[in-house]
Amino acid sequence: MSVLPLLPVTVVGSWPRPAALLRAQKRKVRGEIGEDEFASLADEAVLEVLRLEEAAGADVVSDGEQRRDNFYSFVAEKLDGVRLMTLAEMLEVVEDRQGFERLLQTMDVPAFAISNATCIGKIARRQSLALDELRFLKRHTARAVKIPLPGPYLLTRAMYVLRLSRDAYPTKEDLAEDVVRLLRAEIELLIAEGVDFIQLDEPVLSELVFGQGQTRTFMCAALAARKDPAEELELAVSLINRVVEGFAGTRIGLHVCRGNWSQDESTLLRGSYQPLASYFERLRVRQLVLEYATERAGDLLRFDGKELGLGVVNPQTATIESPDEIRRSIDRALQLYPAEALFLNPDCGFGTFSNRPINQSGVAFQKLRAIADAAQALRGENGR
Ligand SMILES: [Zn+2]
Repeated sequence: MSVLPLLPVTVVGSWPRPAALLRAQKRKVRGEIGEDEFASLADEAVLEVLRLEEAAGADVVSDGEQRRDNFYSFVAEKLDGVRLMTLAEMLEVVEDRQGFERLLQTMDVPAFAISNATCIGKIARRQSLALDELRFLKRHTARAVKIPLPGPYLLTRAMYVLRLSRDAYPTKEDLAEDVVRLLRAEIELLIAEGVDFIQLDEPVLSELVFGQGQTRTFMCAALAARKDPAEELELAVSLINRVVEGFAGTRIGLHVCRGNWSQDESTLLRGSYQPLASYFERLRVRQLVLEYATERAGDLLRFDGKELGLGVVNPQTATIESPDEIRRSIDRALQLYPAEALFLNPDCGFGTFSNRPINQSGVAFQKLRAIADAAQALRGENGR
């Protein structure tokens, strides 16, 4: 495992895809090109992301999620019992069609841009979710590698659509049992292959606490009816803890943000992490990867005994944060956390949905470099 410097710089995961790869992705879905042709284009795209992340100064790199169409729906290609459905198809089967239509109008997301991985039968692994990504990365970089995976709560909420899933799983909690098993098996494979950092993405947790009274929310959260937020959060904590149990030797983080589907900040959720704090404290993950560069995230909070992946640049804006600005964010965090517990990252990915990247590759590069420059300066002062 690579030895990390003080204040390691990393990414949350995704990076904007090149146009040729996006075209190939569409052609693959339509069956016009095969897996191999897509894979060779994706390999090239990953190598370019890797080159940029390394040149920018990331200590822990990702593959930019170039092979995925978004951060969770890619599982449809890897699992039996899961089908990728367009929003038009989803509209026919969601529990609350009117509510879903209203949501789509307010979300500022074109319906063609998003597909959903929907559970239509018993789920089972056809291929590993991310072993191919990890192996490719490790062949091409000496740096530590981060693999983002959709968290168990997100995956369950997104995949469970009552009308299509109930024959295999009468309730979403039944599906969650298989999701936990699946993710544990995946984590075992990744650890055996030498992964340095696994990040579980659970952005939808913020929907449970900040979604109240806000008209915008995550598309994937709108599919199945949910119980009251406290009950759902208990479920999420228990699923996440069961997924990570026994893997304390590996750095596993949890990423929570308030949505990353638009550059229009007013369409994204807002609110401090405070209502999630008591749940975060009970999570047995080593690191919380949280957005803090946006003022929508409220004040910085301290979570004892955990590392913080501190969001110091906003992936949605075109302006590059200045070294002073980033430095101030880090200084604030250093009042609550020891330096050894801090990682530095953007608030979220730069290309969460492949068809709707929220930024340009060049801007992503400059933002990542700004973080690395700030880290370098601080390490210099600390003599490390
Ligand atoms: Zn995010």
